[in-house]
Amino acid sequence: MKGDYLVAEVMQRELLECAPHTPVATAAARMRAAGCGSILIVENDLPRGIWTASDALSGTFNSVADLQQPVRALMSAPVRQISPEATLGEAAQRFQREGIRHLLVVDENGQRCGMVTQTDVVRHQAAASCLTARDVASVARRRPVIVTADRPLAEVRAELRQQGIDALVVCDDERMGIITGSDIVGALADAQLDIAAGAIAHFPLLTIRQDEPLFAARRIFARQGIRHLGVTDAHGSLVSLLAFSDILDVIESDYVRDLLAEIEWQAQQVKEGQRQLVHQTGLTEAILNALPIGVQVRNAIGEYLIVNEQAAEFLGRPAADLLGQRDEASAPATDGGEWPDDAARLASEHHPFVREQVLPDGRILLAHQHQVEVDGAALLIDAAMDVTDWKRADALMVSEHRILELIAVGEPLSVILSEICQQTERHMPGASCAIELLDGDGVTFRDAVAPSLSDEFRSQRIGLAVGPTAEAAGAAVYLGHPVRVDDIASSPLWAGRHACAAQNGMQACWSTPLFSAGRRALGAFSLYFHAPRPELPHEQTVVTHAARLATVAIEHYRHLSELRRLATTDPLTNLNTRAHFLAQAEAELARTVRFERALAVLMIDLDHFKRVNDSNGHAVGDEALRLFARVFADETRSVDLLGRIGGEEFAAVLPETGEEGAQEAAERIRRAVEAVRCVGAGHAPIAFTVSIGIAIHHAGDSIDTLLARADRALYRAKDAGRNRCALASVDD
Ligand code: GH3
Ligand code: MG
Ligand code: MG
Repeated sequence: MKGDYLVAEVMQRELLECAPHTPVATAAARMRAAGCGSILIVENDLPRGIWTASDALSGTFNSVADLQQPVRALMSAPVRQISPEATLGEAAQRFQREGIRHLLVVDENGQRCGMVTQTDVVRHQAAASCLTARDVASVARRRPVIVTADRPLAEVRAELRQQGIDALVVCDDERMGIITGSDIVGALADAQLDIAAGAIAHFPLLTIRQDEPLFAARRIFARQGIRHLGVTDAHGSLVSLLAFSDILDVIESDYVRDLLAEIEWQAQQVKEGQRQLVHQTGLTEAILNALPIGVQVRNAIGEYLIVNEQAAEFLGRPAADLLGQRDEASAPATDGGEWPDDAARLASEHHPFVREQVLPDGRILLAHQHQVEVDGAALLIDAAMDVTDWKRADALMVSEHRILELIAVGEPLSVILSEICQQTERHMPGASCAIELLDGDGVTFRDAVAPSLSDEFRSQRIGLAVGPTAEAAGAAVYLGHPVRVDDIASSPLWAGRHACAAQNGMQACWSTPLFSAGRRALGAFSLYFHAPRPELPHEQTVVTHAARLATVAIEHYRHLSELRRLATTDPLTNLNTRAHFLAQAEAELARTVRFERALAVLMIDLDHFKRVNDSNGHAVGDEALRLFARVFADETRSVDLLGRIGGEEFAAVLPETGEEGAQEAAERIRRAVEAVRCVGAGHAPIAFTVSIGIAIHHAGDSIDTLLARADRALYRAKDAGRNRCALASVDD
């Protein structure tokens, strides 16, 4: 504060010092001789502790031997220090706050230059106005402790200790006196432990009237060099004891008040300056508010100096409410203390600190934090950008890649759809996902993939036919647009089927129909919830994305299975194609060899089929081929492998079949074909026949050799007049 004394100006330059092993009695004697209230204990030129008159009061001395103990045992440590450049006001505050009376003055080089005491403060404090305005009664509230002069000193010391006071009044028949810490020090110095109180008390007790101003009390303290005054009422009766430190309290609180006022004033000036700086340029403000990023600037104690509109939106409070307010979380714990974690890192590393922050509503911010210095003041600048959409798009892309990868490596459709469900659930907490698949007819649900729903819940919807009241899934396909049900229990879409949903605790459902590029209904993508909830803005994208992926996967697998079917099945007869028949036949032969079983091969050719075509047309020829295929299938077992080898040539592999069985089978087929009639449009029923060659497996045969043998037998049958069977010999 302006006009305040410096410690250097008022301190006592003479320092009383002794070694740690000095006996208490000796230390006390030296204090008395120097008229000093404290002695500094020094070792190796370093202050180790301090022993004061108050310490003398609290010590227990029962015998002369107690007085010989080293002062080290009783001293207070560490020694509190203050700079000679500090103001007396600061010293006063420290006395008050730390409950001490002495501060060792140490300069910037570590040199001890003196001692400053409470007394020095009171003596020099400039703030005398408060002492004039107040009377003694306003601060002297302690009732005096009074003992008779004949009380032993040991009891007096005990009394002082127990009451926690530093002086008491002694009275004999005529007068009153006082015993203080320095009197005790004197007694200790003389090793007078068992004398009466009256012997060391100072008489008379100086007094002051309680209605006198405090200023008068301070003058008496200063002139008399004492620390206590008796306080009397208008009748001269002793009502309290005024201590030097009581005056210090007044000065100190006065000082603190002035100091706070000054700090406040300065802070206002700084804030005003900062505010002007910010508002000086309306353009800056306009630019800041036009930015799509949140910008905020805080000072070293966490006060917001700048908050643009976007930042206020992120913080959830109007900028006007924040400006000048303190953000506790971002300010250092104490003035001049450490910055909190992030800022400390940033301060130490001198580069912007970047991190992701999640707002309470789930939005993700990418925040850059800079520490800068403007006119010697540290400022923290935050720039935050909403990257929620990017992060979500990124996450969706990662999901999509994963699914496409699974499709690429040929994982089964159920695995792919299950993964789509799980990924969707990750993006939409609280949702249980199901992909319900329609049969090829596009009308009946044949299966459902729902990793988070019970098997029962899934299977309940299988067999359900698409329609306006076929749950959300069936209705969505029927209507051709998404269907949303907030209360399954009361929804007509679940009529008669509520129980299962209720058992699973499902209350709401959103279904999106899945259509192929050619508008073929494939199924539905459904989300089930335990409670209805609004759809969040980004969730529409998640659902669209998942539904699209599911459509791609389902279509892809349908195309794959169609391709596989085309490659393996002859479209006219539905029998195996030549290539597929041969591949299957190889596998069957391998099994026969491994298990040493029997196997037979039939080669069948329609007789004079050219004539059938020529006389009735190709369409009738086709019909005859279809009819033959049906008969062929009917007359053989399900384990037999049938194939269309050429135009009107067929073959069969009959596992576990020997010569006799094969001949029976061939004959059965021949007869059955002979018996059927092909009915073409506008034609009379047409009869046709087949010739069959039979080959039996022998060791070392391949499929090719077996087929070749059967073929030769077939031509023998043809040569022999057709409509007959011929068994190949080993030599064929
Ligand atoms: P063979 O008793 O000696 O076997 O006399 P074939 O007339 O049956 O024999 P050929 O090999 O001379 O004629 C076979 C005929 O089968 C010729 C062809 O037009 C007919 N054919 C082959 N594939 C098909 C088909 O897919 N549909 C129809 N309608 N006819 C076919
Ligand atoms: Mg032929
Ligand atoms: Mg033929």
